[in-house]
Amino acid sequence: MADESLQDDSDQLLVEEDDAMILAPDEGYSVNNDAEDVPEEEGNRLRRSTNGNVEPGSLNVLSAKLESLDYDICENDLLLEEDENKGYTFVVKKNLARWLVFFWIGIITAIIAFCIDIAIKELSNIKYNGLKISVDKWITKKNLIYPFLSWIAANIIPVFVGSVLVTYVEPCAAGSGIPQVKCYLNGVKVPRVVRIKTLFVKAVGVITSVVGGLAVGKEGPMIHSGAVVAAGISQGKSTTLASDLKIFTYFREDHEKRDFVSGGAAAGVAAAFGAPVGGVLFSLEEGASFWNQSLTWRIFFASMISTFTLNVALSSYHQHPGELSYAGLLNFGQFDSISYEFFEFPIFLFMGMIGGLLGSLFNHINYKLTVFRMRYVTKRAFKVFEAVIVAAVTATVGFGMIYFLNDCKPLGQDPTKFPIQMHCNDGEYNAVASIWFQTPEASVRSLFHDPPGSHKAVSVALFFALYFILSCWTYGLSVSSGLFIPTLLTGAAWGRLVGMGLEALSPNAGWATPGKYALVGAAAQLGGVVRMTISLTVILIEATGNISFGLPLMIVLITAKWMGDYFNEGIYDIHIQLSGVPILPWQPPPLSSNIHACDVMSRPVVSFKTVENVGYIVDVLKGKSHNGFPVIEPMPRGAADGSSYGLFRGLIIRSQLIVLLQNKIFRELPHIQNSQNVSLKLFRDAYPRYPTIQSVHVSPQERAYTIDLRPFMNHSPYTVQDSASLPRIFRLFRALGLRHLVVVNSRNAVIGMVTRKDLAMYRVWKHQGRMGLEKLLISEKL
Ligand code: ATP
Repeated sequence: MADESLQDDSDQLLVEEDDAMILAPDEGYSVNNDAEDVPEEEGNRLRRSTNGNVEPGSLNVLSAKLESLDYDICENDLLLEEDENKGYTFVVKKNLARWLVFFWIGIITAIIAFCIDIAIKELSNIKYNGLKISVDKWITKKNLIYPFLSWIAANIIPVFVGSVLVTYVEPCAAGSGIPQVKCYLNGVKVPRVVRIKTLFVKAVGVITSVVGGLAVGKEGPMIHSGAVVAAGISQGKSTTLASDLKIFTYFREDHEKRDFVSGGAAAGVAAAFGAPVGGVLFSLEEGASFWNQSLTWRIFFASMISTFTLNVALSSYHQHPGELSYAGLLNFGQFDSISYEFFEFPIFLFMGMIGGLLGSLFNHINYKLTVFRMRYVTKRAFKVFEAVIVAAVTATVGFGMIYFLNDCKPLGQDPTKFPIQMHCNDGEYNAVASIWFQTPEASVRSLFHDPPGSHKAVSVALFFALYFILSCWTYGLSVSSGLFIPTLLTGAAWGRLVGMGLEALSPNAGWATPGKYALVGAAAQLGGVVRMTISLTVILIEATGNISFGLPLMIVLITAKWMGDYFNEGIYDIHIQLSGVPILPWQPPPLSSNIHACDVMSRPVVSFKTVENVGYIVDVLKGKSHNGFPVIEPMPRGAADGSSYGLFRGLIIRSQLIVLLQNKIFRELPHIQNSQNVSLKLFRDAYPRYPTIQSVHVSPQERAYTIDLRPFMNHSPYTVQDSASLPRIFRLFRALGLRHLVVVNSRNAVIGMVTRKDLAMYRVWKHQGRMGLEKLLISEKL
C-alpha cells in the first residue's frame, strides 16, 4: 500500500490553466474566461502566462510554500501521561506562568515603544532644528539651495540605512507587519515573522523611516513588535541568540504561542495609541478565530501594563513623573469638548462615504503599485533605490510647498510652531512649514488643534493631494512603515477643509470647528483604507480621550467601511492576497453546501502504518512535502474495497517524525523499550525550528529498523465523513485552528485528506454589489 501511494503523485500543487472558476450564486460552476466581464482585479486573477508560470501580482494564486501552524493540541500518550503525573499543582503553576508572561509582554513592549519614540523625537529635533537654522541663515542671502539640499540629505541618509537593513538583513520587517501578524493568528506560518532579528530591524527601520521624513508612522510596527516580544518571552529561548533559559517549556507549542502573540499584538496597539481596550478589540477583530474568556482577561492585562509602563516612562522622560499624561505613542492632544448637534449626522455620514471612496481609491492605486513592484522592482538594489527616491521626493514636495505657498500667520504664543519665516515678516511664521517641519504625528495634532484661521484652504488642499500620493507610494516600499498616521494625516487634511468650508458657511456657529471635522476626516480616511470598525472606533475614542464623540466616530467608520467594501478589500487583505497567503476568512463561502469533503479532499493519501519501516519514512519525507500523515492499520481481510487506504488510527506530523528519526527512537535499539525513555521534552527542545529531513542521518542498517508511531501520534484527531459539506469543514478548520483533517468512510477507513489550502482555494469575491465564488490556483512559484 505504502509503496503504491509513493508512486502516485498525490501533490496537488499544480497550476492548472483551466481551473480558475467563478461560481455565480445561481448558475453553478462555470469556467470564467471572459475577462472583460469581470472587474479589473478579477481580470487580473485570470491572467497567467501560457507556460503555466504564475505572474507575480496575481490575486488568484495561493503559495504552496506557506505552511500552517498546528493550533490543534496533539493529544498523544506522552501528553496524557504528562497530564496525569503533574497534577493540580502544575495546572496552577502553568496558569501563574501565563499571567507572568503576559505581564512581561506588556512591560517589554512598552520599553521598546519608549525607545523608538525617544529615538525618533531626539533625532527629529536635531534634523528639524538644523534645517531651520540652515533656512534662517540662507534666506537672508536669498539662496535656498543649501537648505533644500540639506533637507534632501537629511531624508535620504536615514531612509537609505533603514532600507538597506530591511532589504538585505530582514525583508520580513518591511511595512507595518499587521498583515503578517494577522496571517500568523489565522494559522499561517509566515517565515521569520516572530524572530528577534525581525524585531531589531523593525525597530531600527521604523526610526529611520520616520526620521527620514517618509509619509509613515511608528504605530503599525509597534503591533508587530509586540507580537515578536510575546513569541520570544513565552518560549523562554531564542534560537537567534542561541540561548535557552529552560523556562516555560510547556508553552512550546503553536497554540500556546498563538495566544501570547495575540496578547503581544494587543499590547502593541495599547502602547501605540494608549488604547488598552482598543488593543484587545484589535486582536479580536483582526486576528482571532479562537477566543475564550480567560484569554480576554490576560490580553487586557498585558495591554493595560503596556499602556501604564509607557505612560510612566514617557512622563518621567518629559519630567512630569507623577502626571501620567502620556498614555501612548500617538498623542492626539486634549480635545476639551467636542460636542455635536443632531443635524451634523448627515455631514458625518457624507464624510464617511468620502472616506470610503478615498480609501478604496488609495487601496486600488496601492494595489497597482504593489503589482508593479512585484513584477519589476525585484532586485534588492532597486528596492533601496526606490526608497531613497521617495525620501528625496518627500523633501522636495515639502520644500516646494513651503517655498511657493505664501502662508504666513502671526507667531502668537504657540511654542510648537517652528518660527520659520520663509517669505514672512517679523512676528509671523510659515504655516506650511509648521506642518512639514515636524513628524507626521505632530502634524496630525496641528490639524486637530490649530485654532480656526491657522491655515489657508489652498495650502491644506494641496497638502492633502500631495500627501495622499506620497503615502500611497510609500506603503509597500522596502522600509519599515506604519500606515495609520499618514492615513490619519491625509484624512485630517481633507476633514479640516470640510470644517473650514462649514465655518465659512456659518461663521459664528459653535459647532463648525475645523479641528473637530479634521478628526472626523481622519477617522473616515483610516476606516476607508483599513476597514476596521469596532477596534478602530475604540482606539480613536481612547486616543482622543473623549467618549462623547464615540457615536459620530462609529457612524463614520461603519459608513467608510461599507462604502470602501463596495469597491475593493481593505489594504491589509489586498496585500495578503497578493502574497498568496492561504488565509481562511471569517465565514465559509455562501451557497457552497453542495461542495462536499469528497470534492475538496486529496487522494491518494500518503500514510504510515502504526509500526513503520524507518527507510520508508525517510523516503516519504524526502519525496513528499506533506506535513501530516494518517496512521493506519491494514483493512481486515476481505474488507478492502480499493477506495480506502486502511483503518484510521491516528495522525502524525512531519516534525514529530523528524525528531523521532533524529533521536533514533527505533524499536530495535535496546534502550528504546517501547518508547518508555521518550518524553515530550524531546519535541519541545526542537520546537519551533525543527531540522529538515535532509539533515537527519540514517545509516543503511537503521533503514531496516522500525518506529512504533502509536505513542507519538494524535489518537483522536478530528475527522469528517466524505459527505460533510464545505461550510461544515470550513467552520471546523476556522474554529479549531486545524491543519489537517482526515476524511474517512463509514468504516473509519481513510479515503482522503483536507488541509487549509484545499479550503482557502475557495474564495468569495465581491465587487460593486456583485459576488461569486472562485477557485484559486496553488503554485510553488509564489
Ligand atoms: P501545511 O502546508 O498547511 O502545513 P501540508 O504541508 O501537510 O500542510 P499542504 O501543503 O496544505 O499540506 O497540502 C497540499 C496538498 O496536499 C493539499 O491538497 C492536501 O490535501 C494534500 N495533502 C496533504 N497531506 C497529504 C497526505 N498525507 N496525503 C495526500 N495528500 C495530502
